[in-house]
Amino acid sequence: MNKTVLITGASRGIGAAAARLFAKEGCHVIINYRKSKAEAEKLAAETGAEIFCADVRDRSQVDAMFSACGGVDILINNAGISRFGLFSDLTSAEWHEMLDTTLTGAYHCIQAALPHMIHQKDGRILNISSIWGITGASCEAAYSTAKAGLIGMTRALAKELGPSGIRVNCVAPGVIDTDMNAHLTKETLASLQEETPLGTIGTPEDVARLLLFLAGRGGDFITGQVISPNGGFVI
Ligand code: NDP
Repeated sequence: MNKTVLITGASRGIGAAAARLFAKEGCHVIINYRKSKAEAEKLAAETGAEIFCADVRDRSQVDAMFSACGGVDILINNAGISRFGLFSDLTSAEWHEMLDTTLTGAYHCIQAALPHMIHQKDGRILNISSIWGITGASCEAAYSTAKAGLIGMTRALAKELGPSGIRVNCVAPGVIDTDMNAHLTKETLASLQEETPLGTIGTPEDVARLLLFLAGRGGDFITGQVISPNGGFVI
């Protein structure tokens, strides 16, 4: 696929798996990261991708990244953080950090990507939500709120940008084996597996393959959808 893809938060986990797969498929891959420079550099050496350090919460850093990398055909808004705790204990700083990273970050990147996509009358925007944005998770109210917000943004933009040939979709994974879930105990992981009809938690590659499908010809007639690779955990 002869396209330029920018993946936010691609130094690790799902973003890194997507960077590997899109590079293997012949894309020009731009890996965005915030803190994990060594991981991003290693991945760039492995895949031939470009890397850009930018905190997606910061408009000027995002604009500088998009100006430096030129037109982006496929944007994957993947950067994310998790926060576990009682809603009563959630601080204002934690609330804003969650919404700024997930929602404002996507808003910044989409606005920066649009001029090129509108000019081309073609583009793919893939927002990484979560099953918790669909069903809500106890003790993850800020995360669930932000991920549900991405679903709303996806649906609205699919309507607004469809006439410009731009497809906007959400991928809402179930439990995936990445650093984000490293805090889960063996017992919790085992019970999550047990509750999953397919009997396993997902891998970053499971999500990456779906992203590639939606970014390619498979996604030609798909927009405004929420597709959830989750092993049947949420049906
Ligand atoms: P990881 O914690 O493994 O990776 C998170 C990535 O986001 C890192 O590359 C990190 O970069 C980046 N990031 C965080 N904040 C920022 C920021 N402000 N600006 C730029 N990059 C940032 O998470 P996963 O790979 O598991 O998650 C990827 C996405 O998938 C997230 O949106 C997550 O919510 C979502 N998701 C994950 C699930 C799971 O079970 N793992 C399930 C459902 C959804 P750096 O290290 O450089 O700071």
